[in-house]
Amino acid sequence: MDPRVQQFMATIKAKNPGENEFHQAVQEVAESLIPFIEENPKYKHAKILERIAEPERTIIFRVPWLDDKGEVQINRGFRIEMNSAIGPYKGGLRLHPTVNLGILKFLAFEQVFKNSLTTLPMGGGKGGSDFDPKGKSDNEVMRFCQSFMSELFRHIGADTDVPAGDIGVGGREIGFLFGQYKRLKNEFTGVLTGKGIEWGGSLIRPEATGYGATYFAQEMLSTRGDKLKGKVVCISGSGNVAQYATEKVIELGGKVVTSSDSNGFIYDPKGIDAEKLNFIMELKNVRRGRIKEYAEKYGVEYLEGERPWIIKCDIAMPCATQNEINEEEAKLLVKNGCICVSEGSNMPSTIEAVGVFLNAQILYGPGKAANAGGVATSGLEMTQNSMRLPWSREEVDEKLHTIMKNIHKTCVKYGTKDSGFINYVDGANIGGFVKVANAMIAQGVV
Ligand code: NDP
Repeated sequence: MDPRVQQFMATIKAKNPGENEFHQAVQEVAESLIPFIEENPKYKHAKILERIAEPERTIIFRVPWLDDKGEVQINRGFRIEMNSAIGPYKGGLRLHPTVNLGILKFLAFEQVFKNSLTTLPMGGGKGGSDFDPKGKSDNEVMRFCQSFMSELFRHIGADTDVPAGDIGVGGREIGFLFGQYKRLKNEFTGVLTGKGIEWGGSLIRPEATGYGATYFAQEMLSTRGDKLKGKVVCISGSGNVAQYATEKVIELGGKVVTSSDSNGFIYDPKGIDAEKLNFIMELKNVRRGRIKEYAEKYGVEYLEGERPWIIKCDIAMPCATQNEINEEEAKLLVKNGCICVSEGSNMPSTIEAVGVFLNAQILYGPGKAANAGGVATSGLEMTQNSMRLPWSREEVDEKLHTIMKNIHKTCVKYGTKDSGFINYVDGANIGGFVKVANAMIAQGVV
């Protein structure tokens, strides 16, 4: 490791003990930025890197609620307001038993760069709770969401901080959260994104992250005169991002052969078609069942406790969670001929796995660029809410597509090496940094 990065990371680790995912996210960014900052000393003098790695505000609160048996349950709620240099804090809420301060700080940190890359005026934030929605009734989820919002409402607002969905937070949860906010504030505003179409939501928002990651793969392939048509694609996850990545890959002529959840994955060598995808959507969004049922219904293989990366593919799209591709899996993907990785999930590849992809010089699109379509469309939802005018499906999709192309262009601008190789990690980190850093300098030491 570059000794300058090592020294910087020693301070970060001492100040934020035990927050491993946060250390990982900061290190990846520091490796790109420290050489860039050396060449641009104004950022060094203003200590931008040190400031950007410190949240502007961290809120931690108790979330008590009553389960269906009348028993009191207690969870912990968080909101990390990371950076507001270029706009109100913006970023999702995650409900998952693994949620802790370090995971949310990594996500909030990534969000700052991602939101800047979209070109829209959004700062970075993230929040959530260690509440596990799995196995809970709709009423329990509602009571939890109401209690969570009863504290969160005083910290957010359409011009202050605008949360959205993430793992465990979809349309149902956003509905319950919005209802409680409205009741407490007596205001109908665009305080959350991912809302239902009838009450302020944007068309294409549910599809946006998965569609965007697919558009990004398409852009990366085009730099090598290639396209998605005919490619075999492994996708992990079977939630919001995975479902719509699958839909767009199918539409563009690729063949998706895997789908997974936290228990295992299914391998369908004939490819998941529109009808099978409908089955997954119903299974996951309505019945809230396990992906194993796909294998039983369609008579394909189910590999319990395994991840899709052991399957030979041209393109890998991780769309489940952080650190879901390790070094060995990255090596196996490359060995099996994978030419492109487009990350739908946040930080799915370990630092070692990223090293494998960069050394092999395959097309590697990190999450903060490849999955930025979700938050970009949230930004478009905020615009529509402010104007009180909805745009058509085609209009939003076209804007999303243009934004993904522009993010790709920014990555090419900042990430192209003398050899011609495009290092999308450097491209996304430096491209996302410059706008935020300049705004921070302009706004003084705050
Ligand atoms: P969902 O909750 O809709 O789906 C998550 C999927 O990932 C489920 O299939 C889930 O399986 C699986 N999963 C979750 N945790 C784990 C784990 N620890 N190990 C293995 N599988 C796991 O979430 P989203 O689709 O919204 O989010 C997926 C990823 O995309 C996250 O990294 C998120 O941060 C990122 N992202 C999401 C955006 C959005 O707009 N929603 C925007 C940008 C990034 P199971 O059902 O078993 O839990």
